[in-house]
Amino acid sequence: MEFSNLRLIKPLVMALEKKGYTHPTPIQEQAIPHVLDGKDLFGCAQTGTGKTAAFALPILQLLDAKKHENKNRVIKALILAPTRELALQISENFLAYGKNLGISHCTVFGGVSQNPQVANLRRGVDVLVATPGRLLDLMNQGFIKLNNVEHFVLDEADRMLDMGFINDIKKVIAKLPVKRQTLFFSATAAPDIMKLANTILHHPVSVSVTPVSSTASLVTQSVYYVKKENKRSLLKFVLSDSKIEHALVFTRTKHGADKVAKDLNSMGVAAEAIHGNKSQGARERALKGFKNRTIRILVATDIASRGIDVDKLTHVINYEIPEQAETYVHRIGRTGRAGSTGIAMSFCAKEEMPYLKDINKLIKKNIEVVSTHPFN
Ligand code: AMP
Repeated sequence: MEFSNLRLIKPLVMALEKKGYTHPTPIQEQAIPHVLDGKDLFGCAQTGTGKTAAFALPILQLLDAKKHENKNRVIKALILAPTRELALQISENFLAYGKNLGISHCTVFGGVSQNPQVANLRRGVDVLVATPGRLLDLMNQGFIKLNNVEHFVLDEADRMLDMGFINDIKKVIAKLPVKRQTLFFSATAAPDIMKLANTILHHPVSVSVTPVSSTASLVTQSVYYVKKENKRSLLKFVLSDSKIEHALVFTRTKHGADKVAKDLNSMGVAAEAIHGNKSQGARERALKGFKNRTIRILVATDIASRGIDVDKLTHVINYEIPEQAETYVHRIGRTGRAGSTGIAMSFCAKEEMPYLKDINKLIKKNIEVVSTHPFN
């Protein structure tokens, strides 16, 4: 299957070629034709499957087709995302794919001054990407009107609910025109997700790709048993392998992330921590450094890592085993994206064994144990 078989217009196909994407991913193949037909969609897919392009491409095409209607620069598509990182990544997608079309977009999220965002909104935008809190804030101040929205995307709905955004989402939906296209994406189809989906979707088409527990198959996984106090030395040992050019290291706490980054820097390894206590500017700088490879190791907590999207990330290291098995799958899903292979290593102390057991149960296999290391 080629992108051109999906009825995508030339400027979009050209933008995809520029990105080096030759074939649609399964979620794109399944979703794009339905979205182009104007249908509502329930997409069960997690980050890493190419889901952003699965909604961004057809929305851009539909907006382009209606350009003559002279509704330029009023918000016609609203994309709601749980975190600023994800909102920024969605925006980057709209920028990359839409650059030949002259469709404007703007991103609003909290934690930074609203003034530049308001200035952008005043110029007029066709596509708005937003996190719920700041969106409502700007709506209440009268800077954003949603009465012309024709396409509404709720991205990572499961995380929205985890993060307690349900009431905010309901308030936003109440302001949307009843007649609209709604696309709903979630990594799971848990009952509370389905309940929300059923209230906002109208005769949706359902598409689904690799459920959480099976995405792990593309990633080579291993576990290192190690005493808690030796994890630092084990990390140094593991990173002495120059094949690891670039790795995302996970810790359970913000404090832990800072400590690991500090330790790495003192060992001469360029590392930065990102977590919720860092300013937006610091997080963006760290992410940029990681993407342009001036920083070798990014140390992150689970919340901060949500939506981190780094092309060709080869290694994920679980410095601490997460308490939730699903979190493990989300973490290792940062590598092995869009069909490429990845490597995930986990450092497991005795007290973390029960978490490891849960993970093995969820992924339905026992992660291979590496015993040939000096801190076994
Ligand atoms: P997403 O699930 O939207 O976060 O996308 C995951 C990653 O796959 C991102 O780095 C995308 O840029 C990339 N990607 C999206 N579509 C394709 C494609 N058709 N071929 C290769 N990579 C893609």
